[in-house]
Amino acid sequence: MQYPEPIAKLIDSYMKLPGIGSKTATRLAFFTIDMQDDDVTQFAKALIAAKKDLHYCSVCGNITETDPCMVCTDKTRDNSQVIVVEQPKDVMSLERMHEYHGLYHVLHGVLSPIEGKGPEDINITSLVKRLQQNEQIKEVIIATNATPEGEATAMYLSRLIKPAQIKVTRLAHGLAVGSDIEYADEMTLFKAIEGRQEI
Ligand SMILES: [Zn+2]
Repeated sequence: MQYPEPIAKLIDSYMKLPGIGSKTATRLAFFTIDMQDDDVTQFAKALIAAKKDLHYCSVCGNITETDPCMVCTDKTRDNSQVIVVEQPKDVMSLERMHEYHGLYHVLHGVLSPIEGKGPEDINITSLVKRLQQNEQIKEVIIATNATPEGEATAMYLSRLIKPAQIKVTRLAHGLAVGSDIEYADEMTLFKAIEGRQEI
């Protein structure tokens, strides 16, 4: 017996999410059918709103409702420092720490020869432009993940930025090899920033 079309479509939609196979998608689809009407409406609206109302900040690349984003327009932030991260969720992790008051730049990925991802495929051009246009930036702190791709990206950026007489540092100890910024706790992140080293 085949599933009725509405549920088959729902299963297909859930399967487009990362890490969701057909079994889980089927479970989620049936769960959704049992949910309260209001909750389902809220869920559907949240999906559409997240896609419609969020954009990438034209300055830093972070997700935002306004362009430029709240961090880029916040006059109280220290605009001598920029932390470079892989993903918007890394900005959230660092902000939760409440210890860093500088700016951010989101790459939306890392250099990965295996996946055929070169410098032009991630948000590097806008970083270079930003550094050229903003003389107040004195230090770029590279906070890509401690993976081979994250390290390679850090080295690439260091070589690219250093000739401009801007200090380039990398998050230090506390972050285990292969670990993601996203999952690090606040104390670990704080220590990693405090112990950052010039590269
Ligand atoms: Zn921004």
